[in-house]
Amino acid sequence: MLEKVLIANRGEIALRILRACRELGIDVVAAYSTADREQKHVLLAEEAVCIGPPPATQSYLNMAALMSTAELTGASAIHPGYGFLSENADFAESVERSGFTFIGPTAETIRLMGDKTSAIQEMQAAGVPCVPGSGGPLPEDETENKRIARKVGYPVLVKAVAGGGGRGMHVVYEESSLISAIDMARREAASAFGNPAVYMEKYLETPRHIEVQVMADSHGNVIHLGERDCSIQRRNQKVIEECPAPGITEAQRAEIGEICVTACKRIGYRGAGTFEFLYENGEFHFIEMNTRIQVEHPVTEMVTGVDLVAEQLRVAAGHELRWRQEDIVMRGHAIECRINAEHPRTFVPAPGKIEKFHAPGGPGIRLDSHAYGGYTVPPHYDSLIGKLIAHGDNRDSSRARLRTALSEIVVEGIHSNITLHRHILEQPAYREGGVDIHYLERLLRTDAEG
Ligand code: ADP
Repeated sequence: MLEKVLIANRGEIALRILRACRELGIDVVAAYSTADREQKHVLLAEEAVCIGPPPATQSYLNMAALMSTAELTGASAIHPGYGFLSENADFAESVERSGFTFIGPTAETIRLMGDKTSAIQEMQAAGVPCVPGSGGPLPEDETENKRIARKVGYPVLVKAVAGGGGRGMHVVYEESSLISAIDMARREAASAFGNPAVYMEKYLETPRHIEVQVMADSHGNVIHLGERDCSIQRRNQKVIEECPAPGITEAQRAEIGEICVTACKRIGYRGAGTFEFLYENGEFHFIEMNTRIQVEHPVTEMVTGVDLVAEQLRVAAGHELRWRQEDIVMRGHAIECRINAEHPRTFVPAPGKIEKFHAPGGPGIRLDSHAYGGYTVPPHYDSLIGKLIAHGDNRDSSRARLRTALSEIVVEGIHSNITLHRHILEQPAYREGGVDIHYLERLLRTDAEG
């Protein structure tokens, strides 16, 4: 097993990684910024090293500081969590070149999947169903781009090849606005990602976001752990996720899961990963792969009983997967709410001191959070302060448990989106299940008008 792991992250995921390490008898080094001295995982870690000032570029994105901390503390592996450097191929490469283990896939895989068009081409070749589109970066030629759009069929979506976080995307409904949309997307992509390349996809109007969790070891074993529905989104940011996805049959799950497993084998995938799909009219369309652990991984853990973070650590240490496909049994249903420090209506981030914090409990309830009474949410990072997860025998019971937990949880001193979660869970359409990715924004608009 690994002896000492450096956690190159903060917040709830850093705590989650620390807990998995503890269970496996691995020591941890918390690498933290000066804004995060009071983080739970920093206080709990065997060792903690301050790596720089609050701005992420000088701390959690500072590769040199992270590598020298690993060197100085004798850590043998680095867990990047999600966000920050987790999908940075250059970081994975320098970690491995310096003789440390990067807890994730190879730099080559991260690079391949980080370029959306190379990812799509590779997935098409592996037999993964994709959204119809340009299949590669758009050329400069305007006539050619109009021809491609006509072939794909309006509406089309112009997207950044190096995209992330939903930035640099533009929907185009008719030819007259195509060229200006491409120009705009190129400019945004250049400034956000340092790469102006864009591509085109058919814009699906009312899809659901359904993603498949995979796990692979370095011996060629790959399994899938079913799917999650993450359609409750605002501005392309997930708000509530669940496992399994309402209405997806056993046969559909097995089929799409098998396709993802085959694709992983083709690219020599290692570690935890997620294939994201848009699901419309009974069909899956691949949009991208995330080559890391995801925020919403707990719903899969609750339903399958597999500890995905522990499994990441094991496969990084070179062990074979502990599970074969036939061992993976989906039991019941789980729903997760992302609790953010933000105003529930305006969504303005609300950093500040949490005066009072009370965690809910009871059967099937899990709270992954680094927050506590007296903790100050710093203004420098994303506003996620915790994830509340409820597991039950079926969707209704997990929803009932989540409602109860949401009525118990207390976060005082700062604004949070807890009231929004309570509101969403009461909606008849949510109760029914299977809403599309625009549902939440429609609900918020109706609320604002009413
Ligand atoms: P990013 O990496 O920037 O997050 P994605 O490709 O994952 O980009 O897309 C983010 C979100 O944008 C998706 O979850 C979906 O809501 C929407 N989206 C992406 N592609 C399409 C498409 N072809 N049609 C409709 N919506 C899309």
